[in-house]
Amino acid sequence: MCEVCGTSLNRRDLAGDEVWNCDGCDALYLRKADGTFLRRPFPPADQRWAAASGEAGVEHAVTYTATLCGIDRDAVIVLRHYWSAARPGACAECRTAADGRVARWPAETGR
Ligand SMILES: [Zn+2]
Ligand SMILES: [Zn+2]
Repeated sequence: MCEVCGTSLNRRDLAGDEVWNCDGCDALYLRKADGTFLRRPFPPADQRWAAASGEAGVEHAVTYTATLCGIDRDAVIVLRHYWSAARPGACAECRTAADGRVARWPAETGR
């Protein structure tokens, strides 16, 4: 369970480390050999989500499964830079969702 917001974690099969993520606040955890979870520090909010291109130059913030505004990840093109709420084309719904997630983060790096 996520120590930040209490949502259950999802395992993401990535090469090497066993990584788990939280869909409630986008915390990332590494599972250690003894079974305990080590939460990674949150990065700055503009280095948390990859950008994905939508219609008419709109950029969505994308997680492992979908954009923050609910579009399936397979339906968008993931770009090679981070999504930032400050960009002119940033999706308004993604911005609202991102604000909600960032508000759950503990007071450390990343706001
Ligand atoms: Zn969480
Ligand atoms: Zn969006």
